[in-house]
Amino acid sequence: MLFKSVTILNEHFDIEKDVDVRIEDGKIKEISKDRLEPYDATRIIDGKHRLLIPGFANVHCHVPMTLLRGRGEGLDLWTWLTTAIFPFEAKMTADDMKIGTRLGLLEMIRSGITTFTDMYLNIGAIAEAVAESKLRANLCFGLSAGEEPFDQRRGVKETLDLLKTVGTNQGRVKVDLGLHAEYTSDEETVRGVAALAKEHQLIVHTHISETKNEHQGSIERHGMTPLAWLNHCGILENPVIAAHCVYVTAEDLKLMAEKDVTPVHCISSNLKLGSGVADIGAWQKAGIPYAIGTDGAASNNNLNFFEELHLVSLVHKGVTKDPTFLQPKELLAAATMRGYASQKRTNAGLIKEGYDADLVLIDLDKPHLVPENDLASHLCHSAQAEDVCMTMVGGDILYEDGTFTTLDEEKILAEARQATKEILARI
Ligand SMILES: [Zn+2]
Repeated sequence: MLFKSVTILNEHFDIEKDVDVRIEDGKIKEISKDRLEPYDATRIIDGKHRLLIPGFANVHCHVPMTLLRGRGEGLDLWTWLTTAIFPFEAKMTADDMKIGTRLGLLEMIRSGITTFTDMYLNIGAIAEAVAESKLRANLCFGLSAGEEPFDQRRGVKETLDLLKTVGTNQGRVKVDLGLHAEYTSDEETVRGVAALAKEHQLIVHTHISETKNEHQGSIERHGMTPLAWLNHCGILENPVIAAHCVYVTAEDLKLMAEKDVTPVHCISSNLKLGSGVADIGAWQKAGIPYAIGTDGAASNNNLNFFEELHLVSLVHKGVTKDPTFLQPKELLAAATMRGYASQKRTNAGLIKEGYDADLVLIDLDKPHLVPENDLASHLCHSAQAEDVCMTMVGGDILYEDGTFTTLDEEKILAEARQATKEILARI
């Protein structure tokens, strides 16, 4: 496949015009300012008024929660979880998980997301839906305190079963180890997760200090912040994906910088649940590489990555009263390359020769994208999910000009409506 004379966001996150890009065997084979010969290209794509960017990495999601979109609006986190979310989730079957996943996949592919990191339950079913779609994902079961001994917990079993299914953990679907959060765990659970992750060399995906209550509660319960307590129990001996980190202390920041911790900024969810705004300037100052996530569709309420970029850029400029804070380059690196790195996916997340062809093509023939004075800024401040005209993962086109190649959109929308109706009838 050959993109001819296309504008790209290059490996330094600069805009480069009139470039040819050759895709071969799922990789970016050649990038050239000179015209490349098509040779035996099966497809030549005219790059006129098109922008090619690396796909987005959505590093914190609960994908089946699309079915809970709009449920329990206007509640605080704990009331929302216990009255609106948990009772619904308790009635979801493995099939419902798959249907909710497919709905979320449509939305993510449509907004240029090429890989995501997810925490939920029934991860075997979720993995099947993801594999059908050909998107990439790091999946985990969010373990919490339970009655049974750690080894016999459903989450441990589901994690090990999926590890067996995906084999070397090097493919499009990878397995992480999930720990829901400090406030839903006990020491046995946390130590069990730390040891199991170590044994299988897995990333631990967890929620950290999402709300002030949670942060303060941990200090009362353990005499330590959530992050310090997880470190005390051995979690930080593994790579960690830490969603939210809205409330972190100077000691937490030191710990995050020393260990392999990627905080994930979920601005829509934090704003909507009134949790607060994470101090990503402090993360930057401490040299902590952070990534960006949508969180689940029930607290966002969509999986649209362009909206996240727009909000992150505007809110932080407003909060810091500094319009020079968070330049598009910095934000786009967090949205792509750094997200892939947090998933331990190497040679991915950049438009660079030899890297995975996880690419998104943006249609610039849109009133809100003309003129092309600063396309990196346009991506953060003007572009819409609807502007994506192609999403490609590993050289496979998953979406092009309104059509999904691996998912049946009409059928998925009908199934999602029906499944939600049936779940509500069971509550
Ligand atoms: Zn979450």
